[in-house]
Amino acid sequence: MRLQDKVILITGSGSGIGRSSALLFAKEGAQVIVNDLDEGKGTQTVQEITDAGGKAQFIQADVTHADSVKQMVEKIIQEHGRIDVLFNNAGISGVGALHELEPDFWDRIMSINVKGVFLPSKYVIPHMMDRKSGSIINMSSCVAEIGLARRAAYAATKGAVLALSKSMQVDYASYGIRVNALLPGTILTPFVENYLRTSYDDPEVAIASLKTRQLSNDLGRPEDVAQAALFLASDDSKFMMGSPLYIDGGATFG
Ligand code: NAD
Repeated sequence: MRLQDKVILITGSGSGIGRSSALLFAKEGAQVIVNDLDEGKGTQTVQEITDAGGKAQFIQADVTHADSVKQMVEKIIQEHGRIDVLFNNAGISGVGALHELEPDFWDRIMSINVKGVFLPSKYVIPHMMDRKSGSIINMSSCVAEIGLARRAAYAATKGAVLALSKSMQVDYASYGIRVNALLPGTILTPFVENYLRTSYDDPEVAIASLKTRQLSNDLGRPEDVAQAALFLASDDSKFMMGSPLYIDGGATFG
């Protein structure tokens, strides 16, 4: 088991990539803390893990609210004594060229995707510093590096997360804390399915067009990203620090 008895907090793990990672991490022996804003989805992930014999607990918290995140971290420390891995996964998407975006939407996506990485990290890192150990995985995206039409705000948030990850790595390397970033391409999750349903008359045509953007000529699955997250969470990646890890079917390279 690659994560035996590690205490792992995954934000936004009621759905998609976070949910798949929670299931995989639990299978690998971790005590998983499933965080989500949506109680129904979060408890469903926990149920799936416990039904399969794994260890998980749900904590509802909004990653954009300092008090909510602080209370969640304090509860985990009280009950488990430590957090070995923090996976900052929660995020939202949004489509539009810059002039089409509403200022309120800009603030919202910045808040969830960037402040939502800052706050959990801010409250977890002092505990990792005390123990001189920890792995932080930040969810960026390949749009941090390649231009994609009508993703202005989303790309800005994911570029910020990538830059933040590198800066965090420099600040906390001497405390034995590793900080790496995941850069997925298009992954078929509820997040993407919803976008396809609402933006195209025929989602199948949209999927076919998205596939051509990747060298793989296929889209990713949440499990593909979960496997990469497992590697970064485990000690197998102990020599990886401040790295961007691409899981994009060649979208960035191509
Ligand atoms: P998803 O919508 O399936 O899951 C995201 C989860 O985050 C949801 O359960 C949602 O309730 C939760 N969440 C949203 N706001 C929150 C908040 N304020 N506090 C706590 N939880 C909150 O999405 P997904 O596709 O699995 O995406 C997960 C992450 O991966 C996101 O950061 C996304 O930007 C990133 N990503 C996704 C893709 C893709 O193609 N799906 C590609 C690259 C990066």
